[in-house]
Amino acid sequence: MPMKPINIAIDGPAGAGKSTVAKGVAKKLGYIYVDTGALYRAIGVHALRKGVDTKDAEGVGALLGEIKVELKFVDGVQKVFLCGEDVSEAIRTPDASMAASNVSAIPAVRAFLLDLQRDIASKNNCLMDGRDIGTVVLPDAQIKIFMTADVEERAMRRYKELQEKGISDTFEQVLSEMKERDFQDSNRPIAPLKPAEDSIIFDSTGHTLQQSIDEISALIGEKI
Ligand code: C5P
Repeated sequence: MPMKPINIAIDGPAGAGKSTVAKGVAKKLGYIYVDTGALYRAIGVHALRKGVDTKDAEGVGALLGEIKVELKFVDGVQKVFLCGEDVSEAIRTPDASMAASNVSAIPAVRAFLLDLQRDIASKNNCLMDGRDIGTVVLPDAQIKIFMTADVEERAMRRYKELQEKGISDTFEQVLSEMKERDFQDSNRPIAPLKPAEDSIIFDSTGHTLQQSIDEISALIGEKI
């Protein structure tokens, strides 16, 4: 019998450093890193392209039959495919962030993506990041970490990332969208953003990414 894979859940709000930390730790451990936000983003982008209101549960639900979302891992790097097209870059815009948050509150969308996430985790040692990994997707994950940080600092990190990509949103815009997304993600009735009861809370405020990677690696190292 093959051994049960090790699953590490990393949840938290946008800009807490989850993806960078999870990538760094996954590399150290030789695990794969699964970014579940990319799945919601792909569905959001599909709805935007089709001109469907991303808050319209019925309209978005009706699109699910034509949507195929796949994650592929190329040299350990995740790529997301929407109906065969590599949308890994196209999903990284501020519009796609908001669309993802909107569609992710729709129960049919969450149900649509659940098996895909569980299937990957059942076959691979992985770090999976998202909002509900420790609470809903992988309640039996061996380690659960909830990463957070002060909202101003999270917005500043995201603002710098967008600037590097040539996206010219102001800091105020980024901050206000981040607050809106946090509120929406934390207050939806289904799978809201919240720490699992058995999670370790990690506040990355004032930490460099390298410090967060080192500290979280050490936390994980103690447990596995
Ligand atoms: O993590 P990222 O910022 O890419 O996620 C985009 C949006 O997708 C989040 O704001 C959240 O609404 C949604 N999401 C979710 N559950 C997850 C991952 C992301 O609802 N597991």
